[in-house]
Amino acid sequence: MSVIARNITKTFGAYTALADVSLEVPTGKLVALLGPSGSGKTTLLRIIAGLEFADPGSGRIDFHGQDVTDTPAGRRGVGFVFQHYALFRHMTVAQNIAFGLTVRPRKERPPQAKIDARVKELLKLIQLEDLGGRYPSQLSGGQRQRVALARALAVDPKVLLLDEPFGALDARVRKDLRRWLRHFQREIGVTTIFVTHDQEEALELADEVVVMNNAKIEQVGTPQEVYDQPASPFVIEFLGNVNRFAALGHPLPGAGGDALYVRPHDVDIQRDYKGEHGIRVRIEHVFSAGNYGRLALVRTDNHETIDAEISRARLAELGLRAGEEAWVVFRHIRLFPAEGKFTERDVVADDAAPAVADPGRGI
Ligand code: ADP
Ligand code: MG
Repeated sequence: MSVIARNITKTFGAYTALADVSLEVPTGKLVALLGPSGSGKTTLLRIIAGLEFADPGSGRIDFHGQDVTDTPAGRRGVGFVFQHYALFRHMTVAQNIAFGLTVRPRKERPPQAKIDARVKELLKLIQLEDLGGRYPSQLSGGQRQRVALARALAVDPKVLLLDEPFGALDARVRKDLRRWLRHFQREIGVTTIFVTHDQEEALELADEVVVMNNAKIEQVGTPQEVYDQPASPFVIEFLGNVNRFAALGHPLPGAGGDALYVRPHDVDIQRDYKGEHGIRVRIEHVFSAGNYGRLALVRTDNHETIDAEISRARLAELGLRAGEEAWVVFRHIRLFPAEGKFTERDVVADDAAPAVADPGRGI
């Protein structure tokens, strides 16, 4: 079931929550709506669900080529999970999962044996096979969200809509659930739209990421595309740590007003440097844990700070300590001209050491 939203505008009084937004979700894909709080993600999801409607005269929603713009939520065949999706406290896990089926009118309700079989199947899918008899209060937060997912899936929705479903859980549980959801979604192949403000979550989970900002879509692309070829300064700043400079002060381009961006892992550090692309820095702080060394640097010419991330091996080889001076050379610079449309341009300093291939590095 593909989902297409076209030219959706939504205003609340004088406030525009969505400004002519269009979105396409291919059948069976998991698409993440990623953006800061207030960017319009939930509003767009609710309009797709049929819980909210676009401004009169604006926009259209198609489910698999069928116009559902005026179809109410209950008849769209969507399943939802929200951040605080309260399970019914007085019902067991199994009863919660069965809920959507048991409340159907008698004529449409499957026989009890069918409902039981479906619940059993879903309990297996969410890996809580033995916990059907428990009450929500006897589950962990992560287990509860899995039950919420099973409950949403019980009625065989054509589209699954998840609004920050892991937002209330701690980091460790979020990571586990993320991995679990990815496998699970691929396995059942239900078209899924996942809202999050967490870039790591979006990049790790989604087939496609829709970056939202200020009631608009800034960019749509695979995780790699939005990370490696950001369409705007907003996207590059939102997707992970990045150094921003007004100018470099050496022969690489960058006139006044241009925005120059360098990811911390594209900062090479050298003790002695004779080329023309170096910037002199003082090392403020060295932090190393895990595979990486992170350095907080300060330019000696203008006191701008630079964050660098290098391998532990490179850090050991350089033997740098706080208070010392060194050179940095950028491996890869992304430039957004100050005027006109943002066209990104890559600049590579070829006298920088190549990036070390670090297997399994994070984002
Ligand atoms: P997000 O999910 O990205 O955080 P939302 O879609 O919830 O953003 O909200 C976008 C903007 O629209 C916010 O500024 C919010 O305050 C406003 N908004 C959302 N729903 C309503 C509403 N029912 N009435 C008034 N303003 C709303
Ligand atoms: Mg929201």
